[in-house]
Amino acid sequence: MIQTIQRPSPNFDARTRAIDLVVLHYTGMQNAEVALARLTDPAPIAGKYPGPWQRTDIDPNTPLARVSAHYVVDEAGAIYALVPETERAWHAGVSSWEGEGDVNARAIGIEIVNGGHDFGLPDFPDTQIDAVIALLKDIFTRWPQLDAARVVGHSDVAPGRKRDPGEKFPWQRLADAGVAEAR
Ligand SMILES: [Zn+2]
Repeated sequence: MIQTIQRPSPNFDARTRAIDLVVLHYTGMQNAEVALARLTDPAPIAGKYPGPWQRTDIDPNTPLARVSAHYVVDEAGAIYALVPETERAWHAGVSSWEGEGDVNARAIGIEIVNGGHDFGLPDFPDTQIDAVIALLKDIFTRWPQLDAARVVGHSDVAPGRKRDPGEKFPWQRLADAGVAEAR
C-alpha cells in the first residue's frame, strides 16, 4: 500500500456496477487546498470558489454541484484519499464509455492538482506524475480487471464538454511506466 493522507469527502453514494475504469482529471482550480475544499464540500456555493469561468454578476449563494473523487494528487506528490474505492465518487458528470453512461458507477476517479486551461495550463511536475504512476500501480494490485488499457482521461468520457487532463498531461510517461496506453 502506498501512503495516503485521509481527507474524507461526504460526496459519494453506492456503486451500481463493477469497477472497470480509471478516469484521470486535472482539478482546474487555483491550488490544492481550494480543490480539496470543493471536493469535500457537502453544500458548495459559487461565492466560495470564484474563478475566471464565473460571470461577475453571478449570485455568490448559487449552489454548485456536489463533487468528489477517490484521490487527489498534489504538485508535490502527496496523495489524498477522499472516497473509498468501493463507493461511487462524483467526478465524471455527464459522461459515457463503451456506449454506457454513468461512468462514475464503474470508475475510480483521480484528480491531479493543476490549474488547467483556466489557470495558465501549467506543466505537471515530475514528482506529481511519479505519484500518479505509483497510485495507479497500487490500484491495479487491488483490482485485477484494471490495467493500462482501462485508464482514460475525463476528456475521453466527456468529449466536447471536458478538456482535462489536457494537452500538457504526459501520457507517454504513464505509458512508459505501464499504467496507461501511449497516445
Ligand atoms: Zn475532470
